[in-house]
Amino acid sequence: MQKIILFISLCFISLATYAQSLPQESRVPGGVAIIPLTGLESTNAPSAWYKGNRVMVIPSQGTKYEQKSDWLAIAGIPLSAKHDQKQHLRANATSFYFQIEDKEYKAQYLTVKNKRHVEPNPEDIKRWRTEKAKMVAAFKNWSEPSSPITQFALPAKGPYSSPFGLKRFFNKQPRNPHSGLDIAAPQGDPITAPSAGTVVDTGSYFFNGNTVIIDHGLGLTTMYCHMSKIDVKIGDKVSTGDKLGEIGKTGRVTGPHLHWSVSLNNTRVDPTLFLAP
Ligand SMILES: [Zn+2]
Repeated sequence: MQKIILFISLCFISLATYAQSLPQESRVPGGVAIIPLTGLESTNAPSAWYKGNRVMVIPSQGTKYEQKSDWLAIAGIPLSAKHDQKQHLRANATSFYFQIEDKEYKAQYLTVKNKRHVEPNPEDIKRWRTEKAKMVAAFKNWSEPSSPITQFALPAKGPYSSPFGLKRFFNKQPRNPHSGLDIAAPQGDPITAPSAGTVVDTGSYFFNGNTVIIDHGLGLTTMYCHMSKIDVKIGDKVSTGDKLGEIGKTGRVTGPHLHWSVSLNNTRVDPTLFLAP
């Protein structure tokens, strides 16, 4: 009898799949918070903001939250967020507060041959500032697709060589934490779109090398760096699996790999939270 009950309950567990995918929630710096916008039961999506950036809001229908509220805010939490400070998200005129937990990211020590990639000269710094402004503008791009994208396929085949969030030291000097996921692969291997989107930026950047940025809508963008070859141009619409270019070692690297960043509300978050379980 117990076996039958167990079998029936397992059936229910496997039936509990939802039509609308969601990223994996992780309320830590560099993670993602999913906030049911209870009390805002309007037909139009509420407009939500967190730390000065517009936040993705999707219908809760087809998710495990559908009984709780009509809308969900899906917010990227910056690596700089403090776990002892209450996080504040505003949707229309309503405030929502949430707590985050601390996360200790590991340290990584790398040696790069090009010393200017560790101690850039004034010209390099000027160039990098201009490039950064262009990239941030792409991350802030706001578009509204017909159906929200909240999950990705991997854009390259290979082992993860550096996870997201590592505290980084280049030639023993502390630098910004690792804002993406590194996938090691041979030079020339294809890099493909992880879901549908529009190319909003391409360029040859000081640190990031040859780079492509794709807008997936509602503040979700992805960035591909260190490419040897770029096969798309600004304005191109891409579908899952379309080739964006090839693995390379341009910019600040120790070898060929793809640096893949996922940005939500202009906040770089852990890309693995968006991979299908
Ligand atoms: Zn990287």
